[in-house]
Amino acid sequence: MAIQYEVRDGALVWIKNPVTGVISYVVDVRGKSFAFTLGGRQELDPEPPPLDEKILTNAIRACPFCPGNEAQAPPELMRVTPAEIPGWTGAGKLEGAQWAIRVFNNLFPRIPEQLTGGRNESYVVVEDPRHFLDHPRSVSDLTFTGALGEEHFFQLIMTDVRLMRLVFANPAVHSVVIRKNQGRESGASQPHPHQQLIGSPAPLPVIEAEALAEDRNPGFWNELIDLVDRLGLMIERADGVVSFSSPIGAFPRSYDVVMPEYRGLLTDLSPDELRPFARAIYRILRILGPLPLDYEIHQGAGLPLHAHLNGRLYPYSNVAGTLNLPSVLPQNVAALRKALARSN
Ligand SMILES: [Zn+2]
Ligand SMILES: [Zn+2]
Repeated sequence: MAIQYEVRDGALVWIKNPVTGVISYVVDVRGKSFAFTLGGRQELDPEPPPLDEKILTNAIRACPFCPGNEAQAPPELMRVTPAEIPGWTGAGKLEGAQWAIRVFNNLFPRIPEQLTGGRNESYVVVEDPRHFLDHPRSVSDLTFTGALGEEHFFQLIMTDVRLMRLVFANPAVHSVVIRKNQGRESGASQPHPHQQLIGSPAPLPVIEAEALAEDRNPGFWNELIDLVDRLGLMIERADGVVSFSSPIGAFPRSYDVVMPEYRGLLTDLSPDELRPFARAIYRILRILGPLPLDYEIHQGAGLPLHAHLNGRLYPYSNVAGTLNLPSVLPQNVAALRKALARSN
């Protein structure tokens, strides 16, 4: 069964997500400005309270992901040193930094460990030692992934690959998901930038649903890519990786990064093959900047390797299985493409 949607006068009217069955209706929200999303955080935080150094110091002291507090976290499993990240943006800003990326078990396993051979297969990957941005004006000026630099993000994904090898050494693990929450609004429980990696005894429900949708419609991914291209929602296409604004995502600012020709795991890609995938994700993260967001990397079960990124500035508003998409979406994507071209 093909993807169900309706186009009138060249514009999308509605589209049904073939995985979830949710219908997105396109509505006129021209009263809302996209400048907000592409703009800085000033609009998010118009008048931060006066800076109190003590509050910043206390936040760092209480953070189990900050350097110096390593003992507050579970034992370290792996680390990447600053020297291993060419052009690390923290160089010279953090005296004597011992690590740039650090991995340990999540204190709170997502999946009970008795289901994964008695081992906790939930992990935290701390993305950077810096809790705050260079010149924080308030406690909410947190380091965010988009500020880390493309090479750093690539090393982060390479760390995930190393960690995946460790996780898959457990014969009870058959599926792995990589998840990121940035910002309180996206459900992040720790302010310090970090990813989660979770090993599961069976394909995670969302992966299973996507695989079932693909069984029903084997051409689903390519059909979606053709459609977003026609609708002006394509962001970039290079080196076997496609990124686009997803008309079937959970949020009006949802993006997908897909390797349509590659149906395997991150661990089976060479670093050179992995780089364009990491780069496409990073470029969207950089544009979204400090905004609340989440992303997930989905792999396995015969699916093309892909990531879903959600800019969560606007609240999730699923009403009885319907979502709304702004009719200005193609213009928003054009602005995004322009911003990416400028930043090259
Ligand atoms: Zn911290
Ligand atoms: Zn997916």
